[in-house]
Amino acid sequence: MNSTPDVLIVGSGVIGLSTAYLLAKQGLQVSVLERGEPAKEASWAGAGIIPPGNLAHTSHPMDRLRAHSSDLIRQWANELEEFIESKTGYRRCGGLELFDETPTDLEALWGGEQILFEKLSPAQTRELCPPLVPARVNYHFPTMAQIRNPWYLKALLTAVEKLGVQILSNQEVVRFETGASRITAAISQDGSRHPASKFLLCPGAWGGRLLALLEINLPVRPVRGQIVVFRTKPDLLPKIVSVGPNYFVPRADGRLLVGATEDPEAAFDKSTKIADARMLTEFAIQHVPVLKNAPIEHTWAGLRPGSPGGIPFIGPVPGFANAFFAGGHYRAGIQLSPGTALAMSELLTDSPPWLDLAPFRLDRTSAEPHLRPFQS
Ligand SMILES: Cc1cc2nc3c(=O)[nH]c(=O)nc-3n(C[C@H](O)[C@H](O)[C@H](O)COP(=O)(O)OP(=O)(O)OC[C@H]3O[C@@H](n4cnc5c(N)ncnc54)[C@H](O)[C@@H]3O)c2cc1C
Repeated sequence: MNSTPDVLIVGSGVIGLSTAYLLAKQGLQVSVLERGEPAKEASWAGAGIIPPGNLAHTSHPMDRLRAHSSDLIRQWANELEEFIESKTGYRRCGGLELFDETPTDLEALWGGEQILFEKLSPAQTRELCPPLVPARVNYHFPTMAQIRNPWYLKALLTAVEKLGVQILSNQEVVRFETGASRITAAISQDGSRHPASKFLLCPGAWGGRLLALLEINLPVRPVRGQIVVFRTKPDLLPKIVSVGPNYFVPRADGRLLVGATEDPEAAFDKSTKIADARMLTEFAIQHVPVLKNAPIEHTWAGLRPGSPGGIPFIGPVPGFANAFFAGGHYRAGIQLSPGTALAMSELLTDSPPWLDLAPFRLDRTSAEPHLRPFQS
């Protein structure tokens, strides 16, 4: 490999690896610098919910990003499974959303986008998902899907390595060498110098910290989220179930993820908390009472890249002609990853991006309020 890559990516989460995948498929030389182990931060820790979308009937760029990504992730999962002969856990298992009152504004959004959904009575909900205590208002989305994060990330990582991408672990970028409105090299903590033609920064929850090295104030901060995993018999709960910010995600082998807490005060501490595990188990038993006898297998926490309004930052880094940033996807980084990577790969190869990136600019002053059809 040439010693100067075309693109140097900082961060090996789902955003960095997905972009590396597209660039490497086009024959670019790509290196990735990772401060720890590859793909072991938020992208590993997430639940992998992929809400549906209908690109033909969306107009707001945030909805277009979700809708296109929802289609792309299905294609990517198939492509990756063939390419590296291993599973990603992609399943269109369908999902239920539970409410106390009819959410007329959300119903209008789902209808406007022509997303497939049906309103179910409590009795119909019980029939579809027997152990679940239905709410007063229940909706079924048959095309809601999931990926299994560690599998999907492992597949992406293996695929990019097979395509010749160089992944350098334990290389935390602590400084940039700059000149003439360009980044010339990233410097890692052991003093190694990593030059490249272009730089893509995908540092997840460390976004604010990394951009501070370029004297840019970007409001991307860690928001810890904890998950508890129950061991159940497969298909105990056949659907993803969301109730406000909390949810159940059933894996095909019977593992049942219950998530997720939101702690913006935890900074970079991703240790698990007993109080959070208790809150999640109480939520679980309230909605699926048979879980009171199910073994808890595991609990973990990860650091979401929080951003104002949960609107990611995607685009050029102001003041640096050869630097780009993609991050701050908050609770939706997995579901938005292929569309984000596509836009980034287009910017990095001087092609017009498929998406209007104006709402995602790094120098936006505030996030335009935007009601999203799916909260998780
Ligand atoms: C509990 C939980 C549940 C979630 N559930 C869902 C879900 O169901 N659906 C969904 O779409 N999203 C979900 N998310 C959110 C999603 O996981 C994130 O939005 C997404 O993973 C962010 O990806 P990323 O690549 O930006 O960040 P990360 O995966 O965190 O990757 C960033 C990488 O950059 C590295 N890095 C940072 N700074 C440096 C540096 N200076 N030098 C070198 N490397 C650096 C980090 O070590 C890290 O590996 C969830 C998150 C959590 C925590």
